[in-house]
Amino acid sequence: MKIKSKFRAKYKTVPYALDSKNRMIPPEKASKHESYRCPQCKKTVIVRKSKLKNIYFAHYRRGNCSIDRSAPTLAKHILYQKLQEWLSGKGPPIEVKFFLDRRYVIPPQEIGTIKLDHQVLISSAKSITAHLALFDNWNQLLVGIEFRPKKRAKSINQYPWLEIDPEECLENPYLLASLSTQKEELPFFMRPIQLSLNLDIPKEE
Ligand SMILES: [Zn+2]
Repeated sequence: MKIKSKFRAKYKTVPYALDSKNRMIPPEKASKHESYRCPQCKKTVIVRKSKLKNIYFAHYRRGNCSIDRSAPTLAKHILYQKLQEWLSGKGPPIEVKFFLDRRYVIPPQEIGTIKLDHQVLISSAKSITAHLALFDNWNQLLVGIEFRPKKRAKSINQYPWLEIDPEECLENPYLLASLSTQKEELPFFMRPIQLSLNLDIPKEE
């Protein structure tokens, strides 16, 4: 699933890079004296300036990285970045919306760690990968988030699992709409939002 050009423009292809201390650095905060790696392929990225003076990260060597090719990969990194900001108290809340249901907020205090590309077994012979896996403070999986254009024919019921359209996430990473049309059993940690509180939740940074 390719990345639409409007999302490339919005997220500048490589939306953040990792510095030598593994910190997530957006291009506009990058320093000339640091070296940076791509969060997806871990290869070197360099800071560049476009003709319009926009600062962005580009791979030093053009390779086979999916961050600038695949919408699910880009969505994974964008949501990871927004979740980390939310957990550190710097960004707007991340909400989840289920079909014909209220919106729920992901409470930061319940989240211990977030892992990228986390595999889980769904039978003795088959495993699937969550683009993002949210774990609690005791390292139990709270929910797996998988980006895909359509919901699975047979939904995952072994784990709390959210299927999200990557383009919808790239459109608004603060409101994740579940692709499932059935009202699912919600992960226990999701808190419903009072409608009156919704009014001033920012959509964008
Ligand atoms: Zn890369």
